[in-house]
Amino acid sequence: MMTTHLVILIGPPACGKGTQARILKERFGWRTFSTGAAIRRHVHEETPLGLRCREQMAAAYLLPDDLIIEVVRQELADHQGGLVLDGFPRTLVQGRLFDEYCAERSWTIHAVVVFDATRQDLVERVTRRLSCHACGGTFRLGQDGVTEGGSCPHCEGTLERRADDTPEVFDQRFTEYERLTLPLLDHYGPRGLVHHVPALDPANLLAVRIIGLLEGQDAPS
Ligand code: AMP
Repeated sequence: MMTTHLVILIGPPACGKGTQARILKERFGWRTFSTGAAIRRHVHEETPLGLRCREQMAAAYLLPDDLIIEVVRQELADHQGGLVLDGFPRTLVQGRLFDEYCAERSWTIHAVVVFDATRQDLVERVTRRLSCHACGGTFRLGQDGVTEGGSCPHCEGTLERRADDTPEVFDQRFTEYERLTLPLLDHYGPRGLVHHVPALDPANLLAVRIIGLLEGQDAPS
């Protein structure tokens, strides 16, 4: 019986988390939640939260933890059922704040899937990435007829290159990932939640591996 229902995906930029989140959503009907996609939507729609995010975006690569938690609280307020988190938590502080939020909601984190890949592996990938404004999905230029300015294979939104998908920005984001996000492994590791997967495996094989490890895992008591 599949009992897993709250899964955190952790990995460096362009490691394929978004694709795997989408596959898990299709397979299990879980909601996938990407803070990055939610923020892009708020910014695009110029909501009050979006305007505050935009102000902060120029200041640093990662937005402040308290602002991110506000996004999470707002977006997940009505959520029930399975959930895959893509791009959150991304700092130790966010991890601790999310533990508090989970306690409030009586949620249990069932698995933390960590996508392993090196800086060199991913820099080429990032420069070929296109993302959809409407659904937040990410795709690779040239794959399955995907083109810049073309339509999203999932929702017919327009595919665009993100302004932050350049080798220079990627390099900085990877460094920040190592510095700020990887410490989360020490947060979740002692709880027996961490599973490493090879990010460079073809997406379909990687999905089989992730689904296998989630299905093979008993829910923590
Ligand atoms: P992503 O699509 O996940 O790469 O996120 C795009 C941008 O949104 C990041 O470069 C950050 O500025 C911001 N962002 C998304 N998620 C977080 C987070 N958990 N903590 C801080 N900033 C975030």
